[in-house]
Amino acid sequence: MIPSSFTYKRASSAEEACDLAAEYGEDAKYLAGGHSLLPLMKLRLAAPEMLIDLGGLRDLSYLTDQGSHIAIGALTRHHDVQHSDLLAREVPLLAHAAGQVGDPQIRHRGTIGGSIAHGDPASDLPAVLLALDATLVARGTDGTREIPIGEFFQGLFETALEPDELLTEIRVPKPPAGGRGWSFQKFTQRAIDWAIVGVAVQGGHVALVNMAGTPLRATAVEAALAGGASPAEAAAHAAEGSSAVSDIRATREYREHLARVLTSRALTETASRAA
Ligand SMILES: Cc1cc2nc3c(=O)[nH]c(=O)nc-3n(C[C@H](O)[C@H](O)[C@H](O)COP(=O)(O)OP(=O)(O)OC[C@H]3O[C@@H](n4cnc5c(N)ncnc54)[C@H](O)[C@@H]3O)c2cc1C
Repeated sequence: MIPSSFTYKRASSAEEACDLAAEYGEDAKYLAGGHSLLPLMKLRLAAPEMLIDLGGLRDLSYLTDQGSHIAIGALTRHHDVQHSDLLAREVPLLAHAAGQVGDPQIRHRGTIGGSIAHGDPASDLPAVLLALDATLVARGTDGTREIPIGEFFQGLFETALEPDELLTEIRVPKPPAGGRGWSFQKFTQRAIDWAIVGVAVQGGHVALVNMAGTPLRATAVEAALAGGASPAEAAAHAAEGSSAVSDIRATREYREHLARVLTSRALTETASRAA
């Protein structure tokens, strides 16, 4: 439970963080809330030689109304996302889901940017942001670029970020006023656990937690809904296109069953909210 030795630097600006990451390349890791990275380091599943602490970048913690979308700084903590009045009004799905991450201690440390950059398909917020069609903003030594969330998750713990790139902002489009409803369903063994399976729905968009190596849009469900299927009929397609694994907590077949059941519940709740 003791990490291998590493060098620690605390960045005082996003520019300095990117410069340090460019200098050390694959040997460097950014440290945000530390609630995913530090456990991996203690288990020696990650052994960065250089830790670049982002904790001093207070200017990357914010939630602002940009008219058509909400801009969220990558270092905004889950607790602040959960309790944002702006999100409660404009994107309640995201505020609600942030409140389902771990326990209060984790939500006070973990950041929305860390949750996305980590690329864990069992995390809640990546699937939620996929259902919301978010856009991610990354800053590197060569400048800034926007990445549609559908192109961001590339494999298990793999994202589109280059080693020197820092995720700086998440842009969440506002669902239409009056919306078409939303829901987040998460099935866990214990209250603070990661989801065995989860489902996020915003209007006609449906995304799954832990049903593949990346968060996944349930496109067969979305197509059925667009064709006029009922929640129960559409939910029957929830496992199509997935590649869930069997592990100590659930078999693949059980995960597929959960995906159908949770999607049915989520679509029913979405419809009742829309009404
Ligand atoms: C006991 C426990 C229970 C948990 N339960 C849940 C749960 O139920 N649901 C859930 O979704 N999560 C859960 N988590 C994970 C938690 O949400 C983490 O906070 C989150 O996954 C990572 O955020 P972080 O800020 O701690 O990132 P860190 O651990 O600091 O970093 C994670 C990875 O992202 C990279 N990174 C961080 N920030 C950036 C950035 N701005 N730009 C580029 N790369 C960056 C780091 O280099 C690292 O590789 C749990 C964690 C613990 C310890």
